[in-house]
Formats: sequence, structure tokens, C-alpha cells
Amino acid sequence: MKRSPDFQSLQLTEEPPEDDEDDPFTAKLMSFEQGGSDFVPVCVGRSTLQAMNNREVLVKKWPSPLKYQYYRSLLPDVSITLCSSCNRLFHTDDYELLVLQRNCCPFCRKPAEHL
Ligand SMILES: [Zn+2]
Repeated sequence: MKRSPDFQSLQLTEEPPEDDEDDPFTAKLMSFEQGGSDFVPVCVGRSTLQAMNNREVLVKKWPSPLKYQYYRSLLPDVSITLCSSCNRLFHTDDYELLVLQRNCCPFCRKPAEHL
């Protein structure tokens, strides 16, 4: 298969087909937690990703040729904001307070009106 730089999700199709577990993400996460100390990112396929609540999934959309990075929040009570400019993740409460105080992103200083 030919790689094209604007098709960053190609990686998703290179995995073996998934079985019909209710939540393959959780199953894979559990096997990590029971295992060793090395963190291995959980890999899920397109169908699992589509089945996730899009408020739980944060996507760092890096410019080409970098690949998009996908994160899933496991703490639904903790609201997380992704800065669209620097792709840093913040607790929403902290971020909103800092943006209001400084009128820009606390990390990349992108002016608030462009966030
Ligand atoms: Zn930022």
C-alpha cells in the first residue's frame, strides 16, 4: 500500500481485525495494567475509535508529515482542553482561567481571540 502524507490514519488499517468485544479499548488497557512497567500505547482500529464518545477522545492534529496522536480520557469528571495552536492538553478549568487572565494560551501565547 502506498503511503501518502495526508493520510495519517493509515496506521489504523494495518492492525489485525478486531473481535466483537464490547469495549476492545478497555480490554487492551486491562492487559497493560496487569503486565509490565513499560507503557505501550493501546492500539485500536477504526471501528473501535468510531465507537468511542468523541468527548473522551482528544486528537493532536500535528501538521504533515507527523502523525495525528489520539488520546482517550479515562476520567470523565475531569474536563480536558486541547489548545488548537500548540496541541498541549490542559485541565479545562485551569486553561480557561489562565486564558482569561492573560488573554492568550498559557503555553504558546496564542491570543485568546484566535483560540
Ligand atoms: Zn497553546
